[in-house]
Amino acid sequence: MKFRHKKSLGQHFLKDANIVRKIAKIAEIFPNEKVWEIGPGSGVLTEELLKHDCDLTCFEIDKNLYPLLEDKFGDKINLVKQDILKVDWQKYFSDEKIKIVANLPYQITSPFLFTTAKYTKNFSKIVVMVQKEVAERISAKVGTKSYGKLTLKMQFYFDVEYGFTIKPNAFYPPPKIDSSIIILTPRKEMPKLQNEEKFWQIVEVAFKNRRKMLRRNFREIFTKEEIEKLSEKFDLTRRGETFTEMEFIELYEDIYKVAKK
Ligand code: SAM
Repeated sequence: MKFRHKKSLGQHFLKDANIVRKIAKIAEIFPNEKVWEIGPGSGVLTEELLKHDCDLTCFEIDKNLYPLLEDKFGDKINLVKQDILKVDWQKYFSDEKIKIVANLPYQITSPFLFTTAKYTKNFSKIVVMVQKEVAERISAKVGTKSYGKLTLKMQFYFDVEYGFTIKPNAFYPPPKIDSSIIILTPRKEMPKLQNEEKFWQIVEVAFKNRRKMLRRNFREIFTKEEIEKLSEKFDLTRRGETFTEMEFIELYEDIYKVAKK
């Protein structure tokens, strides 16, 4: 039976062998290393990864692909027939760090990357293909249009590197937009926060309405008095997109003190 690509599962399969090789090369896989591939599809990238003699676990949601993958790879891969977002990741962790290499289905990019951020210490490196616009947001510099919540969140946990751009004709069927490779390496020194939830709430609110000044956005969670007090130290007529991570941390530390009183 002919395989029908499902748009709902982001099934754009790579057909350009050069791109496949380039991705594996960037991943710098060494023999016996633990590697995860999310969504092997018809196994093009899988085949390339196996050339590096790694210990490969592939997570695939689409049952129509299982016979093909089993025929092609047998026990050369550990095929997990599950939705990666529903997998108990801890079950697959050990003392050994894992590398992730994947052409991610677009639909799961954010929740997937947020989960990797939760478990950074279990990963050595993450090389993933995402929509170009998402890669630009993840790797954005402060003060640019792409800079926002996703930038801060990813750069808080990872050193981020933009890999390269891939045009739609490298896939079958071709997607409507460009894709990019992004490389995430867990940060060695992460900022220490007493209350991460509070910090991310501040970031969230700061970007709620990108065009508005911080003092306007902050009205949602702070009293007038708290905002006035903060204004003595910080220029809240600026927009969230002009604040660096360090400035958000200073703001958070100050607010945290204000809120504790
Ligand atoms: N790796 C292949 C390639 O590069 O040609 C296929 C990549 S395709 C963009 C995404 C793959 O992820 C598809 O095989 C799709 O079935 C699978 N997939 C989609 N959602 C998934 C999920 N939640 N968990 C695991 N796999 C998923």
